Amino acid sequence: MGRVALVTGGSRGIGEAISKKLQADGMTVAATYAGNDEAAAKFTEATGIKTYKWNVGDYDESKAGIAQVEADLGPIDVVVANAGITRDAPFHKMTPQQWKEVIDTNLTGVFNTVHPVWPGMRERKFGRVIVISSINGQKGQFGQVNYAATKAGDLGIVKSLAQEGARAGITANAVCPGYIATEMVMAIPEEVRQKIIAGIPAGRLGEPEEIAKCVSFLAGDDAGFINGSTISANGAQFFV
Ligand code: NDP
Repeated sequence: MGRVALVTGGSRGIGEAISKKLQADGMTVAATYAGNDEAAAKFTEATGIKTYKWNVGDYDESKAGIAQVEADLGPIDVVVANAGITRDAPFHKMTPQQWKEVIDTNLTGVFNTVHPVWPGMRERKFGRVIVISSINGQKGQFGQVNYAATKAGDLGIVKSLAQEGARAGITANAVCPGYIATEMVMAIPEEVRQKIIAGIPAGRLGEPEEIAKCVSFLAGDDAGFINGSTISANGAQFFV
């Protein structure tokens, strides 16, 4: 297809699977990372996906990084705002720092990632914006007031961007994964994780590749009339 895709947090976990899938779809892919896991970034780079290090929570770094990606690879057609973190604590113990780190990365990070590429997409009359939200943004989660707020906010972002971009050939959609087998989930204590799995009707965690396939569909030409939508991929873990 010859398109250029940017995947934030594309060096490992769900983002790595997305980077690989978009590459397999024929796109030239840039994957970003924060710098916590250089080995994962090197491994991704070895597969022909160019990696870039910047903090998505910093607007100036994001803007400069995106300018470098476009200088190296060409204009970005597909942007996947995937980078995300957790800093869990029950609300009465949550610190302002835990709140701020998650807001900066998961919510402001989406603004910082999409805002610099938006004018180019409008000019070229094509763009695909895909934000990786979460089931916990749809239903809330004990210990995740900060995280759930950002992931619910992501849904507001894509619904608004969809309305602003529709006439310019840009779609903006969200994917809400349930629990996926990545380091983020494997870091949950084993006993708690087993309880979580017991609550998933599918009886298992999802695989990163299953989220990547949703992104691949939304990034493709066939999804041009899907705009402002949310794909939930959670093994039938319904919520009220
Ligand atoms: P991982 O922890 O496995 O990977 C996170 C990626 O994001 C890494 O590449 C990391 O870089 C990067 N990153 C983190 N903070 C920043 C930052 N400030 N600036 C730039 N890059 C950053 O995460 P997952 O693959 O599990 O999650 C990916 C997305 O999916 C997140 O948004 C998460 O909230 C969401 N999600 C995950 C679920 C799951 O079950 N795993 C469920 C629902 C949603 P580095 O390697 O340098 O740290």
